[in-house]
Amino acid sequence: MKKAHWLVGNWKMHGNLAANKALVDGLRQRLPTLSDAVQMVLCPALPYVAQMEGLVAGTGIMLGAQNASDHLKGAYTGETSPMMLKELGCGFVIIGHSERRSYQGETDGLMGRKALAAIDSGLVPIICVGETAEERDSGRTHEVLGRQLDAAFGYIRTAHDNIIVAYEPRWAIGTGIAATPEIVQAEHSFLRSRVAQRDADFAARLPILYGGSLKASNAKSVFDMPDVDGGLIGSAALNPDEFVAIYKALDIIARKAAKGNA
Ligand code: PEP
Repeated sequence: MKKAHWLVGNWKMHGNLAANKALVDGLRQRLPTLSDAVQMVLCPALPYVAQMEGLVAGTGIMLGAQNASDHLKGAYTGETSPMMLKELGCGFVIIGHSERRSYQGETDGLMGRKALAAIDSGLVPIICVGETAEERDSGRTHEVLGRQLDAAFGYIRTAHDNIIVAYEPRWAIGTGIAATPEIVQAEHSFLRSRVAQRDADFAARLPILYGGSLKASNAKSVFDMPDVDGGLIGSAALNPDEFVAIYKALDIIARKAAKGNA
């Protein structure tokens, strides 16, 4: 994947036809054109993907889903194939979000199979990894992150290239307590070096996003960290003022980075 900066909005199980339109209109009013330095991906609730495709058409905003099956088709009642998502206009899918691990009992292995099915369908998987508070407090953060990452890369290959990783400490999601910039940098650096053991060039290009209670007031200090390539945003993605302010904070840093690399 070309090295780039990313802002992904995870709308979770929120929204309806009117609210989705109001939110996209609100984003477009505040941000009539997207920056070429920051890619924006919105992940609405599944039933609204088709509506959203119409709303974002021609805006440069891209669409993602919050989950997909590890199967491409078949007798899997209630599941959604990543191929269907692709047909509906999605380019991305969040895999292994901690809320799915907690409430739906998703395992590391299932996450790996879902990531592979997504890639096979032409979607970019956004692979979420993160430790619980208890795992961090008992000094097991790297063991857990390494296990989750290795499980995913047991199925997918660095040759697949179109892959995004998101570091989302479970204790930071939806709690209002974001990880400090220092913690974020330390864990992103750990994740990048773990991937580099497989393929150093791929690891250098791999976008690693931070997610967990990011908002306009703390985004800049996290985005300033060298191994942070953007954010995965939950609650603040539902507020156009907040989301656009986060986007602009990332854009300033992305432009600086692009100049530095030129
Ligand atoms: C998320 O759900 O991926 C997330 C980061 O949520 P929040 O920003 O609300 O913590």
